[in-house]
Amino acid sequence: MSIYPDTDLLVGGQWRSGGAGVLDVVNPATEEVIGKLAKAGRQDLDDALQAVAAGFDAWRRTSAYERAALMRKAADLLAARVEEIAPVLTMEQGKPLQQARNEVNSAVEVIRWFAEEAMRAYGRIIPARAPDVVQNVIKEPVGPVAAFTPWNFPINQAVLKISAALAAGCSIIVKGPEETPASCAALVKAFADAGLPDGSINLLYGVPSEISSYLIASPIIRKVSFTGSTAVGKLLAEQAGKYMKRITLELGGHAPVLVFDDADVEGAAKVMARLKFYNSGQICIAPTRFMVQEKAYDNFVADFENQVSKLKLGNGLEADVTMGPLANDRRLSAMAELTEDAVKHGGKLLTGGERVGNRGNFFAPTILLETDPAAKIQNDEPFGPVALVSRFRTAEEAISEANRLPFGLAAYAFTRSAKTMNDLSDHVETGMLSINHAGLALPETPFGGVKDSGYGMEGGAEGIEAYLQPKFVTRKLF
Ligand code: NAD
Repeated sequence: MSIYPDTDLLVGGQWRSGGAGVLDVVNPATEEVIGKLAKAGRQDLDDALQAVAAGFDAWRRTSAYERAALMRKAADLLAARVEEIAPVLTMEQGKPLQQARNEVNSAVEVIRWFAEEAMRAYGRIIPARAPDVVQNVIKEPVGPVAAFTPWNFPINQAVLKISAALAAGCSIIVKGPEETPASCAALVKAFADAGLPDGSINLLYGVPSEISSYLIASPIIRKVSFTGSTAVGKLLAEQAGKYMKRITLELGGHAPVLVFDDADVEGAAKVMARLKFYNSGQICIAPTRFMVQEKAYDNFVADFENQVSKLKLGNGLEADVTMGPLANDRRLSAMAELTEDAVKHGGKLLTGGERVGNRGNFFAPTILLETDPAAKIQNDEPFGPVALVSRFRTAEEAISEANRLPFGLAAYAFTRSAKTMNDLSDHVETGMLSINHAGLALPETPFGGVKDSGYGMEGGAEGIEAYLQPKFVTRKLF
């Protein structure tokens, strides 16, 4: 079994302690302090800015072929370290070991995908109006990037930003998640060990608001990317706007699931229960607002409850555990408050609804039926293991309920009707729609939202575009 490592900062190719001391890292399953984390001070931020500027100079001059080769090497190193990194991720974040392995393996795939994209950042030649004019559109790396990544997928949220930025030829400073730092650092280490030029990738931890406001204001940083809550996303968008920086925002969601009478109801319950309680529900695309058409309702509820009864809650390091603790105690109190408020608003608690044990952030997988739309949980993203199930009669009613909230990240639907599929695809306000399966978040497919869920896409061919700036060059020949 791995021993939990302390985490340092990476600045200009050197791992180092931070100028502002250390922070504790706590295991959410045991509440024990398992490690220390270097906390960046002002000098670390200034050094990181100088380093990322120098790194950009070197990395943008590295050919796309070489960049791809170095990225593939980082992917190979990460793949060789899965069994070392996965328990570290489980210890700091809580997820079951197999989910931690999945996370590292999926990061390997993301890096490999973007390594290939690096070689396909094509420009264009635009036919000119005169025979002696050549008009080109060149895609240039936008410049040094500041990326802010959260604790729910400490590796996967960071790898999307790092891989796309590096593939485009940008250098990057990652401000990683303070509560789950070591697995994110292991990801960054794979890139550093692969031999990327010093400063092309840097890693900081500290006080998030201090680091983000300092980096975003710096003229060195040309692009910002953030994954986290809508409230923080709006704050960073404001700062980025003030300094005219491009920003990609992957924020909260509150995903609707529309199950129609003609669906494979049992299949829907199975695939959605797995996704709902994966990572203890701490996923921005977690299905939460289940709306089930009248005739399918009873069967869906029974099948869904049956799936939930099979979950085994416990310390993610134990072999048969399928759901771990919540990653921090903020989520634990949020689940208790939201559930209590839902019951006050008429929600019928079918199962769960309470903390399990008195040590560790364990909250039982929870199903609430028929909760009033005015309840807090029907409006605020729970970001935890709670599913809300309600009934609907017509497709119009379900679509209108799906679109009721200001969020629009992921949406799911289950139906055998091609017409219903078309109607949903035309009318559901969402960045991603998955029909009859859980088909989101692959390296090759775009990932992102609309409305308060943010803007810009990560993943897929769209992912690298966020880090490329088109430049138009027109030449009149002699
Ligand atoms: P929070 O709003 O305090 O923080 C969310 C994330 O943003 C954290 O990673 C945090 O370190 C970072 N952050 C906070 N202030 C920042 C700042 N000024 N500059 C840069 N980064 C900053 O809330 P929290 O308790 O950590 O998480 C709660 C909510 O955040 C959840 O309910 C969920 O809605 C959202 N969240 C979303 C995702 C996602 O994948 N989209 C991931 C984690 C959290």
